[in-house]
Amino acid sequence: MHIFISEKRKGDTFYITDEELRHLKVRRISKGETIGVIWEGKLYSCVLVDNRKSEALCEIIEEVHVEVPEVHITLYQSVPLELKTFELIVQKSTELGVRKVIPVITGRSFRNKEVLYKKKERWRKVSLEAMKQSGRPYKLEIEDVVDINEIEPVHQVNILLDNFHRGAYISELELKTVKDIGIVVGPEGGFSRQEGGLLRDKGFLSVRLKPHVLRAETAAIVSVGIIVNLAGS
Ligand code: SAH
Repeated sequence: MHIFISEKRKGDTFYITDEELRHLKVRRISKGETIGVIWEGKLYSCVLVDNRKSEALCEIIEEVHVEVPEVHITLYQSVPLELKTFELIVQKSTELGVRKVIPVITGRSFRNKEVLYKKKERWRKVSLEAMKQSGRPYKLEIEDVVDINEIEPVHQVNILLDNFHRGAYISELELKTVKDIGIVVGPEGGFSRQEGGLLRDKGFLSVRLKPHVLRAETAAIVSVGIIVNLAGS
């Protein structure tokens, strides 16, 4: 089922406009076809009833029940030097039900904040595409970039993914009752000794993934995948 995002609703009719309308036209969806519509955090199956130049109209058939992860994951992701990699992380985080991604500047990450502010719109689009593709009806929040020393352990569980430090393995964590977790992932060159120390002193738990040294994006995706499947049940 093709899914579109609607920003306008009157009664049981959703309006598809602008960028979403362009997608609908490219996919050549015609009247009478069933589509999915995301509206304010919910997914509906709808029938396309009118396809005009400036808007398409569709009527609700029923709400589609979507299971939402019980655990709220916030990913603090050091921005990779290769900026495309951050887009991949945004895409996968969306598919995996992450609630919030916060780009982080560290000693060895991409460091130009001006460039990163301009990327926000691109990341938003990547995330919206991933939402539609995965049938996820709630948005991923992407926050403004922060420095590593601004990160605080405000979550129920606060994890620092660190392959240098001899911390616990992720399989050793008791995740079942976790409802809110923050995960900090380093840049390709890793955290500096001082950065790792600072976060551990603040109360972050150093955690390792098996078996080898992973690329930053692999570490982010794998850790989120493990946590979302094991936590909050
Ligand atoms: N250059 C570093 C590796 C950095 S990998 C080195 O040579 O050791 C980038 C980031 O991914 C790390 O900072 C860490 O947050 C995460 N990471 C990669 N592999 C990991 C592992 N096996 N366990 C935990 N975190 C890992």
